[in-house]
Amino acid sequence: MNDVQTDNPAEQMIREQLLDRGITDMRVIEAIRAVPRDLFVPARQRENAHSPRPLAIGHGQTISEPYIVGLMTSALRVLPEHRVLELGTGSGYQTAVLARLAKLVFTIERVKPLLDQAFDRLHQTGCSNVKLRHGDGTLGWPEEIPFDRIIITAAAPQVPAQLLLQQLSDGGIAILPAGPGQQQSLIRVLRSGNKLEQDELCLCRFVPLIGKEGWPE
Ligand code: SAH
Repeated sequence: MNDVQTDNPAEQMIREQLLDRGITDMRVIEAIRAVPRDLFVPARQRENAHSPRPLAIGHGQTISEPYIVGLMTSALRVLPEHRVLELGTGSGYQTAVLARLAKLVFTIERVKPLLDQAFDRLHQTGCSNVKLRHGDGTLGWPEEIPFDRIIITAAAPQVPAQLLLQQLSDGGIAILPAGPGQQQSLIRVLRSGNKLEQDELCLCRFVPLIGKEGWPE
């Protein structure tokens, strides 16, 4: 007899790409379970929505693979009272996952059509605790500082220290990919006073973060 869960691509994704690979924080798993990933990918990609790889979302950008979303979200240790800043809204998928874990999510995207599409999808999926902004995310969101958590889903040349020291609360955590080449390190930063303590989680590959504290256009 068939196991019902085996036939469901979303459950298979959760089991094989998250639980079996060590993403076991059940708040994170439940948040990912609650967000229909296929709604956040272009129609032509729908049948690949749960596959273990990043997918093109137009404008030269990608939605991260499920494992990376799970890993970054777990490492961020988001609590229900947190205000989270996300740079690089893209499809809005990671935003929707964060919205289920945090009090408020502030997300910035530099490609306007992607931001508009993400706005519609977030609305459709009932995320009412997300604020969206068009522009260069490396400038942060000064009117709303400080943030308990900051997540950057595009690759910076190095850790954007000025942004983090201005906008991350003391004791706050940031997760971001950084590095000079095509391949980057996924870095977790803990702000402690004026210090940014860093540890590397793994190697990764992201599209570039373009802006004042990112790569030039
Ligand atoms: N988390 C996204 C991944 C998007 S890819 C998802 O789940 O789909 C990274 C995104 O960062 C791209 O959409 C790109 O346009 C955006 N980006 C790059 N530099 C940026 C910047 N300085 N400010 C805001 N967004 C930026």
